[in-house]
Amino acid sequence: MFRNLIWSALMGGSLAALSACSSVPNITDDFTSVGVRPPSDQCTVDPKSVADAVSLGSVSGKGACGIKDAWKVSAVGDVAFSTPARLRCQMVGVTDRWITKIVQPAARSAFGERVVKLRIAASYACRGRDNKRGAKISEHAFGNALDVSAFTLASGRVVQVEGGWRAGGKESSFLRQVHGRACGTFTTVLGPEANAAHRNHFHFDLGKHGRSGKGKYCR
Ligand SMILES: [Zn+2]
Repeated sequence: MFRNLIWSALMGGSLAALSACSSVPNITDDFTSVGVRPPSDQCTVDPKSVADAVSLGSVSGKGACGIKDAWKVSAVGDVAFSTPARLRCQMVGVTDRWITKIVQPAARSAFGERVVKLRIAASYACRGRDNKRGAKISEHAFGNALDVSAFTLASGRVVQVEGGWRAGGKESSFLRQVHGRACGTFTTVLGPEANAAHRNHFHFDLGKHGRSGKGKYCR
């Protein structure tokens, strides 16, 4: 195990792995988990009570990737997912809170109708941040993140992050509300203003920020 980790660290060309001698850092060829705190096992809402969700037990992946309490989620409340998302337990309840408290009121106020579907751009994925080689491990690798690229309304109208964000009018105001207010429920919220990687979707996660782990990062 130890030899394999050192070997993959060498293959990945990371000297950071070798300088941290007190513990064996978890390095793969593609990304590093050094300095990234994995999520706690906390889960306060039974996913089955708020979502069309099936337990997957634990999901394991390369390096630090994996989910201890994983769920395959096809809908949250009566909002369908374009493709099932693999999420850790706590993400399901928090996503439900975001949809109920923020997305639906914003849709009612901007369009006078409900959101019925989310286009899911990503959920669990064993990779580094922004898909960059050598980057820190992404919260997606813990099932602790959800990417949403569009919202479908009951009338069939589709509001896309790409285009809609800067379109002005109702679409912009709706998208800016569901993005801005999400910072009250998730701990990381990224959108088109964050960087080029997020020009076409919102990223929401429950990563730990700051010394206390309770900080927020919203852009
Ligand atoms: Zn993401």
